[in-house]
Amino acid sequence: MRYISSFKLVGQSNIFRLQVTRRAVRALSGTTVRSQAVDAVVPHITTHEKIQNPTTTKMFINNEFFDSKSDNWIDLCDPATNNVVTRVPQSTPEELVTAVDAAEKAFKIWSKTTLLSRQQIMFKFVSLLRRDWDRLAANITLEQGKTFLDAKGDVLRGLQVAEAACGITNELNGNLLEVSTDMETRSYREPLGVVAAICPFNFPAMIPLWCIPPAIICGNTMIVKPSEKDPGAALIIAELAKEAGLPDGVLNIVHGTAPTVDFIIDEPRIQAISFVGSDRTGKYIYTRGTANGKRVQANLGAKNHAIVMPDSNKVQALNAIAGAAFGAAGQRCMAVSVVVTVGSTKEWLLDMVEVAKKLNVNGGFEPGADLGPVISPQSKARIEALIQSAADDGAEILLDGRGYKVDKYPNGNFVGPTIISGVKPGMKSYDEEIFGPVLVAVSVDTLDDAIELVNSNKYGNGVAIFTRSGPVAAKFQKEIACGQVGINVPIPVPLPFGFSFTGNKGSILGDLNFYGKAGIHFYTQIKTVTSLWRSEDAVVEDSGVNMPTQQ
Ligand code: NAD
Repeated sequence: MRYISSFKLVGQSNIFRLQVTRRAVRALSGTTVRSQAVDAVVPHITTHEKIQNPTTTKMFINNEFFDSKSDNWIDLCDPATNNVVTRVPQSTPEELVTAVDAAEKAFKIWSKTTLLSRQQIMFKFVSLLRRDWDRLAANITLEQGKTFLDAKGDVLRGLQVAEAACGITNELNGNLLEVSTDMETRSYREPLGVVAAICPFNFPAMIPLWCIPPAIICGNTMIVKPSEKDPGAALIIAELAKEAGLPDGVLNIVHGTAPTVDFIIDEPRIQAISFVGSDRTGKYIYTRGTANGKRVQANLGAKNHAIVMPDSNKVQALNAIAGAAFGAAGQRCMAVSVVVTVGSTKEWLLDMVEVAKKLNVNGGFEPGADLGPVISPQSKARIEALIQSAADDGAEILLDGRGYKVDKYPNGNFVGPTIISGVKPGMKSYDEEIFGPVLVAVSVDTLDDAIELVNSNKYGNGVAIFTRSGPVAAKFQKEIACGQVGINVPIPVPLPFGFSFTGNKGSILGDLNFYGKAGIHFYTQIKTVTSLWRSEDAVVEDSGVNMPTQQ
C-alpha cells in the first residue's frame, strides 16, 4: 500500500482538479483578517468568523444595485458555522416586472449593437473576471462552503465559457446559397429577446457563467435568478459586467425561490429559460415553461459511475475516484457517486477507505482543507438518512462519515467521506442522487455487467472507466449509454472550446446543451432571407478608399 503513505489527492480530471497543496495557503496569503472593500456590493470576506452586521443581498436591475422592498427575507448561513452571512430577499412582484421591463427595453438597443462592440465588452468582462477571481472564489467558499481552491475552479470553468464567447465572430456565421439566377438565400442567427437563467447552489459562479456570456454575446438580454442559498457570486459577476461596459438592463439579477421561478415561467416576455438543478424542479420548469411556448434547456440530477478494471493503474484509479467522489463534499452533478468494481478489484475498496480517511474535512478557508461542509443542516440530515438506509438494506458501511465533527467548527454541516459496499440497484442509496461525500460500491463480474448496470441507470450525465487496455476502452466508449465518458478521467466535463456539456437520458430535458455551439443555438433563432438583385439593374457608384474604422 505504498501509495497511501505518499498520498496526494489529485482528481485527474482536466476539469475539476482538487489538488491539495500549499498553493491554497499562498492563494489566501494575508487574508486571515477579514477585509471589506469599501464600496463593494458584496463584501470581500475571507474567514468563517462571525459577521457582526450581516449585509443584505442586493437586487440588480438596470445596472443599479439596490435593496429589495420585500418583507420576506431568507437567512443565508455560512455552511461551516451556520452563522448568518447575509439576508436574501424574495423579490417582490413589482421588482420582477421592473427587471423584465428593463431587459425588454435594453433588448431594442442591445440586439442592434454590432457584434464587434459586444465582443469588446466580453473581452473586458473576461479580464475583470480574472482580476476578481479570488474575490469570487472567497464569496463561494463563504456562502456555499467548498474549499477556496475548489471555488477557484468553479470560477475558472465559468470564465472559460466567457472566453469562448469572445470567439462569437466565428460562431454566428450563417449559410448562403445562390438558389437561382441573381437570387440567393442566406440565413442569420438572431437573438431571442429576454431570456432567463435559474441556477442551482452547487456552482454559484460556473452555472451563471454557462448562461450569461453566450446569451448576451448573441444579443439577448437576461434575467438571472441565482440560488437563494448562494447568490453572492452572481452579484459580483453583475458588478463586473457593468464595469466591463454592459449597457443598462442587459443583465438583471432577481432573487427568491418558487414565486420568482413561477414568475419567470409565466411571464410572456421571457422567451427562453436555462435551468440547472434537481429533477423535481427541472421537470416542473420544463413542463410548464414549454407549455407556455418557451424554449427550455434543463440540466438535472445524476448518478455517475466509475468502473474499475483489474488491469487499471490502482494508485491512479483510487486517487482519481476519491477526488471525484469527495471533492466539493460530493456536491457536483459530475461527482463520482458509484464505484463499480469489476472482478477482483472489489478487494481494493479497503485501500480506497484508507485514501478517503486521509482527507482533511474542514472549513473551506482553512489551509489544506480537502472538502468543506455540505450546504445546509437539512442536506446533512438527508445524506445521513440515505447512509442509514443503505445499512438497513443490508449494505456494509466501510467508512462512516455521519456525525463528523470538526473541532474548530462544531456547528458546521460536515459529513465525512463515506464508503458503502454491497450496494445494489433497488436500494435507495443506489437509486437516489445522494449529493454528498458518499461513494457506494457495486461489485460485478465482467465489463459487460458493468456496462449493463450503467446503461440501466435512469441518469446519463457522466461515467468513467479505469483501464490500461485500449480495446476495453474502445468497447466501453462505444457501448456505454451516457453523455460524458471519461477514459482514466474521473470527471469528463468538456471545455467550452468547441464542446458542450453533454449529459443525456434522465440528466437533461430539452434538445440543446449548455455552452459550445449548442449553447449558441439555444440562444438564437434562424432567419432566412431570399433576395433577388437583377444584374441588369446594376449601377456603378464611386467607392470609398479608406479602411472601415467603425466597430
Ligand atoms: P434545486 O432544484 O433545489 O434548485 C435549483 C433552482 O431551482 C434554485 O434556483 C431554486 O431556487 C429553484 N427551486 C428550488 N425548488 C423550487 C421549487 N419547488 N419551485 C421552483 N423553483 C425551485 O437544485 P439545487 O439543490 O440547488 O442543486 C442541486 C441539483 O442540481 C442536483 O440534483 C445536481 O445534480 C443538479 N445539477 C445538475 C447539473 C447538470 O449539469 N446536470 C449541474 C449542477 C447541478
